[in-house]
Amino acid sequence: MREALLYEKLPDSRVRCQTCQWYCAINPGKTGVCHMYENREGVLYNLNYGLASAANVDPIEKKPLFHFHPGTLVYSLGGWGCNFHCADCQNWEIAMAEDVRRVSQEISPENAIKLTERNGCAGIAWTYNEPSMWFEYTLDGAKLAKKEGLYTVYVTNGYLSPEALDTIGPYLEAWRVDVKGFSDEFYQNLAKIKRWRGILEVAERAKNRWNMHVEVVTNIIPTMNDDDIQLEGIARWIHDKLGELTPWHVTRFHPAYNISHLAPTPLATLEKAYRIGKKAGLKFVYLGNVPGHASETTTCPGCAKPVVERRGYETWVTGLAGSCCRYCGANLNFRTAAQGGEKR
Ligand code: SF4
Repeated sequence: MREALLYEKLPDSRVRCQTCQWYCAINPGKTGVCHMYENREGVLYNLNYGLASAANVDPIEKKPLFHFHPGTLVYSLGGWGCNFHCADCQNWEIAMAEDVRRVSQEISPENAIKLTERNGCAGIAWTYNEPSMWFEYTLDGAKLAKKEGLYTVYVTNGYLSPEALDTIGPYLEAWRVDVKGFSDEFYQNLAKIKRWRGILEVAERAKNRWNMHVEVVTNIIPTMNDDDIQLEGIARWIHDKLGELTPWHVTRFHPAYNISHLAPTPLATLEKAYRIGKKAGLKFVYLGNVPGHASETTTCPGCAKPVVERRGYETWVTGLAGSCCRYCGANLNFRTAAQGGEKR
């Protein structure tokens, strides 16, 4: 347990948490929406500092991040809890957990860095659950990782507050964000989130203010976010605000949790999303959870040659020179060890 970094004290021992965009006002003895931050006599504590639900060595492509250190391994740490309660949650056992101490592995930030290096990983990712649920821990880990020359990744629902983003911004290199849909009704139905456009603003800030590498994922759920209006909205926003070279992953929904009655996403719907992304001007649209699909491979939009070939989680970097195509020199928006991708 650690005192939270970002909160303000209110009258009568109440506090306001500033870690994410809920900005919960919390009475003494109570927790916020996520159940992971608790007000104890006017002091806000994060309850799960260093308590991991999972620790694995993954290909970076599994996050998915396709234009960020392709072919490398990433040490992937999951904590507990979530500030969203999505009907399609794939990790609900850890995201909806409340009493976590009994079933956690305790991994200090120092140990996480040692394990990253010992396992031959090029970087570390906070993933599986929403990283802001143990924000203080990820910040300490990111600072150490940066000192050791390791890359750092958030796999996030994007609802971190701008204050928290600006705190971790100097130490974080990749922002893999879900943009789950593009309407008030959808976000309200899926996750009870009203101010979902804050997700877009923080993603833009991650890119523009902190020079993070950003990739966007949309899990396409039949009847919920598979209409042209939402898909066009997401594609246009990525193009206009993050740039045409930003990768968009459109992934197949598998029936889960509270909407297990819905069918998996038809391939035709994913291919429609692909066409919508391309029509909006995006250069890199990838279908996810469709092993063997041709879109797994990155093709240079300049000369049409394959530059990073993928089959499942196997990756061959064949045509990159730093961030660019080695055949025609086109900028392909890659961050690699050779290219550096140094933060401003
Ligand atoms: S992290 Fe978000 S949901 Fe949790 S207490 Fe803080 S503001 Fe509320």
